[in-house]
This record gives sequence, C-alpha cells and structure tokens, in this order.
Amino acid sequence: YLKGKTALVTGSTSGIGLGIAIGLAKQGVNIMMNGFGEREAAMAEVKACGVEVDYHGADMSKPTEIAELIQITEARFGALDILVNNAGIQYTAKVEDFPADKWEAIIAINLSSAFYTSHYALPGMQNRNWGRIINIASVHGLVGSSQKAAYVAAKHGIVGLTKVIALENAKTGVTCNAICPGWVLTPLVQNQVDDRAKREGVTVEAAKQALVSEKQPSGQFVTPEQLAALTVFLCGADASEVRGAAWNMDGGWASQ
Ligand code: NAD
Repeated sequence: YLKGKTALVTGSTSGIGLGIAIGLAKQGVNIMMNGFGEREAAMAEVKACGVEVDYHGADMSKPTEIAELIQITEARFGALDILVNNAGIQYTAKVEDFPADKWEAIIAINLSSAFYTSHYALPGMQNRNWGRIINIASVHGLVGSSQKAAYVAAKHGIVGLTKVIALENAKTGVTCNAICPGWVLTPLVQNQVDDRAKREGVTVEAAKQALVSEKQPSGQFVTPEQLAALTVFLCGADASEVRGAAWNMDGGWASQ
C-alpha cells in the first residue's frame, strides 16, 4: 500500500526519527531525511532497505529553511505523501529559572516547525487527495511534569494542532494524528539519565531504572521500532478513519 510513496521525517539522524525512517523504508517508502549530527551512518541504514534516500539539513527553528525543505522534497521525489514531524529538543528547569532563549527554541523546534511543515506540505497532499501527517508529540502532550514547562506546552500545543489539521481535512484523504510516547532510550533521554546519575551519585544503570520506573508503570522503555510500527499502521489503509487522535504508547504512564 505504501510502496513508492515519499516521506519526510524531520530529525531522522537519530533516535525515534531514525527508527521511523527505517520502518517506513521497509514498506518501500522513499525517505527525505533531516537533522543534525552524524548523518552518513543513518542514511546508509535507511538506504539498505532498498529505497531512494536523500537528506536536507534544514534547521527546524527557521521557517524559510522549512519552506525550502518541503519544496526540495517535492521536486526531488515528485510528491510529499507522508510528513512525520519528529525533530525535538528538551531542557529542564523550573519556570522562574527557565532561560528565555531555551523557551523560544523549544517552542520553535517542537511546535512551530510542525505548523510550518504542514502549512507548506498540505496543498500538495490535498491536490493528490492523499496524505498522512504524523506528529511525534509525547505523553507530555497529555500530562505535565515539573521542570519541563516549554516541552509540555509545546507538546500539548502539537496535540491541539493535530486536531485542527484533522478537522480541516476530514472530508479528504489527508489524515493527521499524534503519537505520544513515554520514555524511549534515545540520546535525548540518555542526557537526562546521565544528569540524574551525576546528581544522585548513582550508576548510569541505576539512574536509568529509577527514571523509567518513576513514571512508566511497565518499568520498560518504549522502543523506536514499536513507534515505527504504529506510524506504519497510521499511514496504512486501515487507519484512514483515525483522524485527530493522540495515541499514547507509554507503558501505562497516562493511565495513572
Ligand atoms: P534525539 O535527540 O535522539 O533526536 C532528535 C532529532 O532531532 C535528531 O535527529 C536531531 O538532530 C534533530 N533536531 C534537533 N534540533 C533540530 C533542529 N533545530 N532542526 C532539525 N533537526 C533537529 O531525540 P528523540 O528522543 O529521538 O526525540 C525525537 C522526538 O520524539 C522529539 O520530538 C521528542 O520530543 C519526542 N519524544 C521522545 C521521547 C523519548 O523518551 N525519547 C518521548 C516522547 C517524545
């Protein structure tokens, strides 16, 4: 069903985005990758699935670079069918200590970028009467945690944006949904584990277990592969009437 379609996965050089790029590529979807850091190994992993792969280094905090990214993706592959808004960053501090530049960066990268990518990608999807927008929100799009004001605000915001895009396109073949993961052991979370180990003077392994069991009832991390499988389902024919959902995969976190 998805073979020959094209997906843009923002922030796909690492973690969840890379996992989703691989999962879609295994379905025969051509991939436009994006993100910072070392990209050669990530691209090689996706290419090994036998699809066309390209890369654009647009900074998700820059609307003009996002416009160019969408335009280049459509020109390179002929269409942009699946948009996965995944790029994201984290910073933790209490509101009164939260640096203004960190607030602005998190709102820009974790929330506004999804508005801009959708703004530029929707006309093409509407013309072809088929499209999938998957927003990688978080369980923090559904509940709060202290020290994460910007992240929680951005993730609640992207859940709201998801509903509006779903409604505006409800009579078309374009759907928009959010996925709300609990803890996934990616570089973004490894930083929080390392901070915790240092702060509490415990081993990295002990900090990892403490972090996951504090909020996630299963005591297990969610994996990028599991999130990729949910993404593939939401892109599939059987999900054509899943519209505006905020689907948590969080080991029970949001059920508490
Ligand atoms: P990660 O740090 O492994 O990957 C983040 C990706 O985003 C990287 O490819 C990075 O280069 C890219 N990126 C960062 N800033 C960017 C920018 N300005 N422009 C373009 N790309 C940029 O993190 P991850 O854990 O894989 O997170 C991916 C998404 O999943 C984020 O939106 C995050 O909030 C969300 N999420 C993660 C978890 C978790 O436990 N890891 C849980 C819930 C939601």
